[in-house]
Amino acid sequence: MSLVLDTYSAASRLALQDSEARYQRAVQGANDGLWEWHVDEDRLTVSPRWKDMLGLDDATLPHTLSAWAARMPEAQQQAFLAAVTAHLEGRQAFLHLECQIRDRWGQLLWILVRGLVSRDQHGERLLAGSQTDISQRKQAEHELMHATMHDPLTGLPNRERMNELLLQALQRQAKPGARHAAVLFIDLDRFKLINDSLGHQVGDQVLVQVATRIERCLRPGDHLCRFGGDEFVVLLDDMAHAEDAERVAQRIMHGMQYPVVVRGNRLNISASIGVAPLNGHDTEQDALREADLALYRAKAYGKSQLALFNASLQQEVHQRLKLETALGDALGKGEFELFYQPIVEVAADRSRVIGVEALLRWWQGEQMIGPDEFIPILEETGDIVKVGDWVLKQACTQVREWQEHGLPGLRCSVNLSSRQLLEKNFASRVAEVLAETGLPPKSLVLEITESLLMQDGPETLATMRELESTGVRIALDDFGTGFSSLGYLHRYPLHIIKIDKSFISKAPDDERLKAISRAVIGLGKGLSMDVIAEGIETSAQMDFLSGEGCHLIQGYWFSRPQSAADLKPWLLNLTQTGPQGGVAHSLIN
Ligand code: C2E
Ligand code: MG
Ligand code: MG
Repeated sequence: MSLVLDTYSAASRLALQDSEARYQRAVQGANDGLWEWHVDEDRLTVSPRWKDMLGLDDATLPHTLSAWAARMPEAQQQAFLAAVTAHLEGRQAFLHLECQIRDRWGQLLWILVRGLVSRDQHGERLLAGSQTDISQRKQAEHELMHATMHDPLTGLPNRERMNELLLQALQRQAKPGARHAAVLFIDLDRFKLINDSLGHQVGDQVLVQVATRIERCLRPGDHLCRFGGDEFVVLLDDMAHAEDAERVAQRIMHGMQYPVVVRGNRLNISASIGVAPLNGHDTEQDALREADLALYRAKAYGKSQLALFNASLQQEVHQRLKLETALGDALGKGEFELFYQPIVEVAADRSRVIGVEALLRWWQGEQMIGPDEFIPILEETGDIVKVGDWVLKQACTQVREWQEHGLPGLRCSVNLSSRQLLEKNFASRVAEVLAETGLPPKSLVLEITESLLMQDGPETLATMRELESTGVRIALDDFGTGFSSLGYLHRYPLHIIKIDKSFISKAPDDERLKAISRAVIGLGKGLSMDVIAEGIETSAQMDFLSGEGCHLIQGYWFSRPQSAADLKPWLLNLTQTGPQGGVAHSLIN
């Protein structure tokens, strides 16, 4: 084959021979296939390497440009011919194109085609160049692309890929007549617990199995991606009805019902799902944020819940964010105040205040906000630790002052959140506060809830023992509202049971509740624990409790929680109205 290497030069024959010899050596050594196309005669000549690359023989070799193009997939034929024309017409300085070509066996290879047109000594146009097999590079690029767009654990598309998919879906949505699309944000409930207790390897296997289960609930054309951690995002496209999204979400939750088995562990898994429709005018970030907001709402409902996005949700979350920010500054701005509610020991001859419970209030301007509205937020943000520390110190200071001014035995009850008890050195911090304020340890009662004990960590038990050893007492608050397990009562150092108000308020009229209240009071007595009845508002409740032998009462019947200033005269008054005019002191002292 005589290919002309340097068609530009019209050098001497000798020089040409020399150049041809060099060229032949280069052709043999090169891995590229070479080709030359006589433009005006549409005659294609190719090098042996070109032939070998595609496994062709003389019989199957293309001899025209269109025969060459015919070996390419249809869409790429157009691109190839267009690139050739663009170069011949001078619109492109070189022919340079990556495309696919079919070999003898029908297998597609990726090739790079390069070429340059010139004129031979007769003035005829020759387009000549090389064809390089770039399949390996393309494969590597593909793998790299896949790796950057997929999660290595589950093999699912990752967050980046989901952004791309969402973008495409949004473009489709913006067109008239588009069918419905939606985003589901899925988060496993309490997955951290699995990871923390059984290790990451088990956690990983759970995620893989969960991914498969979710995938089974989807149709071809829907996309599932792992968004990170235990979060998955589903893009539902091309739905006939907007409500179909909810149905799919329900199917997914249903699919989680059966336990996942990993390394012999049967694990109950559940997921919360936020659903947001995809609107053409959103950005992909809007769509995800809306689904995430809905998920946030679903989580607030509890485990295994589903919530749909709507505009009021956005408003609500905005409100909540404002509240969170304001709450973050509340301590620094001195907006917290402690109210106190007396705990009264009732006896036939006289009633005595034995202690007060400190209850936190937040002043936002003139408006007073109750703890049920903001304590959960403080717990979530972690600020409860700082605020709780302030409460402890403030309450101890106040009660110590009352003790020094006519109420020597008065007790101080302070509510604790689990985050506080989990703090390292919490017991020493309590001792420090007691020392600083001068309140005797036996005057302090720390109120904890059953939910705190349910977390059941060895650290909690150790801290409680340490507190007990200093003389501080511990009360189990809201008894009867949680999963009251009698096991707690002997496992933990508890000294007082507080029967919850919701529990006892109906007791006088309800035989079953009456029986339970009676049993709890008996239980407390049997375990030498004090039993305080909370939320007592009526004389009927008072009569019932006195009949059952429960004499420690807290409730509106005696007093609502009040500011320290308002409560003080009341305290002194109640303390001094007894027949003996004695000073309040606790039976439990
Ligand atoms: P809790 O510790 O069970 O406190 C008793 C709650 O019952 C108080 O609500 C009190 O105002 C209310 N209460 C008392 N007597 C009656 C009554 O006769 N009828 C009715 N209907 N309610 C009565 P409050 O002050 O809104 O506190 C709610 C909860 O917030 C408390 O329940 C406690 O769990 C938590 N809390 C309050 N202050 C703090 C605090 O400083 N730290 C922590 N971690 N939690 C606190
Ligand atoms: Mg309490
Ligand atoms: Mg309570």
